[in-house]
Amino acid sequence: MKIVTTPLHQAHAHAHEFEGGRLIPAKDVPARAELVLDALRARGMGPIIQPQHFGMVPVLRVHGVEFVHMLEQAWGRWVAKYGYEVREAFPSAWPARGMRASTEDVEAALGTFCFDTATPIVAGTWAAARQAADCALTAAQCVLKGERAAFALTRPPGHHAASELYGGYCFLNNAAIAAQSMADQGRRVAILDVDMHHGNGTQAIFYGRDDVLTVSIHGDPAAFYPHFAGFADETGDGAGEGFNLNLPLPAGTAWSGWAPALETAIARVLAFAPDILVVPLGVDTHLGDPAGGFRLEGADYKRMGAALARAGLPTLFTMEGGYRLDTLGSAVADVLTAFEGG
Ligand SMILES: [Zn+2]
Repeated sequence: MKIVTTPLHQAHAHAHEFEGGRLIPAKDVPARAELVLDALRARGMGPIIQPQHFGMVPVLRVHGVEFVHMLEQAWGRWVAKYGYEVREAFPSAWPARGMRASTEDVEAALGTFCFDTATPIVAGTWAAARQAADCALTAAQCVLKGERAAFALTRPPGHHAASELYGGYCFLNNAAIAAQSMADQGRRVAILDVDMHHGNGTQAIFYGRDDVLTVSIHGDPAAFYPHFAGFADETGDGAGEGFNLNLPLPAGTAWSGWAPALETAIARVLAFAPDILVVPLGVDTHLGDPAGGFRLEGADYKRMGAALARAGLPTLFTMEGGYRLDTLGSAVADVLTAFEGG
């Protein structure tokens, strides 16, 4: 299985995020991707390849042009306003109900396009986000050429980013960009998101469409981030009605509760009869994950990889969440090696 990655993700490095009314240490640290890479190397997986460059056309098939330009220019505008001393660009006001979106000031631009306080922009964010999208597109090309699977080690992750919205550590929706690219090349694509958190961005991007199926297994948004999407009654809109499936699960869910949801998800995917499956792979489902709330552990990740393999579809994995650093690498490696062996 080809693994697509680039050291340029390290340019997106920030010290903090806001959570629970406090500035806390960032959870999406560059070491995450390095730990995953180390674990994959230790298992002899690969080859490990660098991304090709696809330019902005495939990105703009999913994201709005004004949004993309804002991400590209945000750090420069921030520095022009605050100087280099404030090293992390966070929004501090949002155009909530009854107010007007604006991009006139950098504060307004961040508030207009960002939905949380966990996702600062720093000097290298845009370069890293573009590279992550290229990793996903490169992995998509591998699958399009007939390889059984490929893994895009995307950082920053992508599944919380919608067409014109960033948040949840995500800027560009790597999985959606790859899925759209494969759809544009004539393939029928299903997306099965196994991250602890609802893939709200991916859902929003394809919500009105019947040509790309979106399925997500995640913590019930009544209790978990992203709070405002991921409920079971979100089934699609218009032509997309019936082509979005959310499987929210309660806090403390272990494999015994998670596995049936996976079987339901895979059955829905197979009924859709896709050519290719995209799996936004987050392992923040792990017991003790600082962003999590489920209790998957150890061999559960091998079971997950084997179950995904039994679906029998060419599969593109993108890296999403997973913040418990002592188990992150082995959990990802377990999923991918079990998929290869299954
Ligand atoms: Zn997550």
